[in-house]
Amino acid sequence: MSVYATYPLIPIVGAAFYTLLLLMPLIKKGQTPSQNRWLITVIAISILWEFSIFAAPHINFPNLSTNLLLLSIIAITGATSAFLEWRIPRVALILAGLAIISAFVVDFLAADHVINFPQIGQLGITTGTLLTYTSGLIIAALLLAKTWREYKATAFPWHANRLLFWFMILFAIFFGEFLQFFDNLSLILVGQILRFMGVLGMAYGIASFRIFDVRRRVLRAITFTIVNIISALPLIIAVLAALFLSSEYEDTPGLFTAVLITIILMVGFFLYEPYHKLVEKITFRYLRGESLNSNQIMRNYSQAISRTLDVQHLSLLIAGTLSELLESNRCALLLITKMENGRLEIEPIPGMGQISRKVELIPQENLFITTLFSHSQPILQYDLDFSPDFKDLGDLSRAWLKSQAMEVFVPIGSGDEMEGMIAIGPKISAVPYQPGELEIMQILADQTVVALQNARLYSELNEQNEQIRYLNIGLVEQNERLEIMDRVKSDFITIASHELRTPLTQVKGYSDILEAMNEENALTREQTREIIGHIKRATVQLEALITAMLDASQLDVDGMQLTFVKTRIDTIIRLASEPLAQAIRERRISVTVEGVDTLPGIYGDFKRLVQSFTNLIGNSVKYTPDNGSIHIKAQPLPSVNGDEFLEIVIKDTGIGIDPKYHELIFEKFFRIGDPQLHSTGSTKFKGAGPGLGLPIAKGVIEAHGGKIWVESAGEDEGRLPGSQFHILLPVKPPDLELHTDEQLAAKQAYLVG
Ligand code: ADP
Repeated sequence: MSVYATYPLIPIVGAAFYTLLLLMPLIKKGQTPSQNRWLITVIAISILWEFSIFAAPHINFPNLSTNLLLLSIIAITGATSAFLEWRIPRVALILAGLAIISAFVVDFLAADHVINFPQIGQLGITTGTLLTYTSGLIIAALLLAKTWREYKATAFPWHANRLLFWFMILFAIFFGEFLQFFDNLSLILVGQILRFMGVLGMAYGIASFRIFDVRRRVLRAITFTIVNIISALPLIIAVLAALFLSSEYEDTPGLFTAVLITIILMVGFFLYEPYHKLVEKITFRYLRGESLNSNQIMRNYSQAISRTLDVQHLSLLIAGTLSELLESNRCALLLITKMENGRLEIEPIPGMGQISRKVELIPQENLFITTLFSHSQPILQYDLDFSPDFKDLGDLSRAWLKSQAMEVFVPIGSGDEMEGMIAIGPKISAVPYQPGELEIMQILADQTVVALQNARLYSELNEQNEQIRYLNIGLVEQNERLEIMDRVKSDFITIASHELRTPLTQVKGYSDILEAMNEENALTREQTREIIGHIKRATVQLEALITAMLDASQLDVDGMQLTFVKTRIDTIIRLASEPLAQAIRERRISVTVEGVDTLPGIYGDFKRLVQSFTNLIGNSVKYTPDNGSIHIKAQPLPSVNGDEFLEIVIKDTGIGIDPKYHELIFEKFFRIGDPQLHSTGSTKFKGAGPGLGLPIAKGVIEAHGGKIWVESAGEDEGRLPGSQFHILLPVKPPDLELHTDEQLAAKQAYLVG
């Protein structure tokens, strides 16, 4: 470093500049105290370094300045980790500390120790110097590499800009330091200036959290240079040509040359301005792409939004306009709704790109939201991450905002009027958004307020309309049901009187005949037996009807007493079909049973279950024309939460049931068709009954903890769509688990009406 021995003023001036720079962190505090501390450390070491260069010839510590440089590299590492929020592993810190200590120690104890390699001989470098160089080089290379890698990896342009800026600063500092090792005045001067500029940049970066757009500035500088060179070129060529030409006429430049050059300059003066503009236009177009007519786009946008009343469409319009204006490839409209509990519901409406539709609830006093709407200015994700204003933003909000992967959030509405926000992702080109572009976004958002309000009101109105329509449908259905129920009530009287009167009339008629014939002594044994037979049948019918009515009435009053025993479905079905066997034969209906043999036994009231299945199979027989078929299929269902169920389906090829009656047929005394029809109690095709078979079956099955429902495409005597009655029965009724078999037998279950 003999240059410094000749020019000792250089380090002194350097120290003075660095001292001035020390004022910067004192005047304007950095974003965090640790950034400030590291910056002051870097500048302080830089001052010491300059002094150490100045003092080098006078002290006996030849490597002091190099060691101070190593120290400064370590301080720069600290500043970098504070600025870029890195967590540097402790091992790395210990290693760096060891490197610097050993460099000092080696220099102090064995300043003159020179490394010898047997093959090369003396390397001419002391151990201390080698140690300092290698440590400094490794740390600097690692820092540069890590910053570059992160710059390449980040998707957010403003984040990338911060990293690029820092990379350039590091590069300037390290390159400046590298130049110090040359024994050349110019290189050393350039190195000093570069290093100072680097540290200055560091101070600027730390003091102002939003750094200028590095790439744009560089691009602008390049454009500026190109434009000016190209603009000046024709004039230079013309002047040179004039000089060359005039040399033909004049040996020494004289009047002719002067006149020629004056003419050229005058013409050039007139032509320069339009030519310069043209060059500028072409260069700008080439380097930055064609400029868009943003006014036209905004006008089209405001016309389009005034016509839309749909929030989703609005979101698409916003995304389309923004992608045209700013070339972003991700955009969403986030609707904000104030909830009653003081929270805000944020509902994303995707506009462009993959956007999660997950609704988020956040407190109304959330720092992000209050800042957004009180300032009515876009907020960048970069601001959220680095601005001191958002230091207190909660971790949850931070994580949620980050998960949106958006670059800018623009408020729609201001103050208390929070309609929503536009969230915009990074540009496709990864160039950061400029202040002018953020302004365009805000103008767009301001234009959107009224349109969004209208669209939301409209969709609310639509929702309410839909709800009313839905309620109306429910009401109509309910009304229809009530009407039918009302009819059933009056039908009940008709049916009951019909049902009861028919056998009663028979009993009365036959007993009158019996009495009359008896008085005349005209009764033969045979006649008496026949008449009594008629009376008996009528009483049996009467008894069956009264039992059914009593059973049905129990459903409403105190429930039906059930006696649980272990039984099997196949036995129940067999016994239930027995009374119908003759009718099935006579009407040539085929009955098939499938899957009952392998079913597990169940706990149930045997008699009641037989009665229910008789009703069900009887109905299938009654409502299936001659030559039809009935298929009974049973299977165990997969157990749910440990509860096992059996499913039995009784499927017939009968007339079917209109879906609007699927629930009503399980109501007491309800039967489809004319109530005036006589109960025949028989198994004839469409032989009407009193409308009690299904309610009783339902009551019994539900008392077992089971379920019954019907499926049928509709009623049609021509097409015969058939009906399927589904019965679910638990293997063990739910509340019986703790009982023994004997207790089970005594258990009572109650029917619910
Ligand atoms: P009913 O004593 O009249 O048979 P239910 O309560 O057993 O009374 O049945 C009520 C009504 O349900 C019947 O009147 C009939 O219209 C209809 N129904 C029941 N089962 C069937 C079936 N398998 N096919 C067609 N209709 C049926």
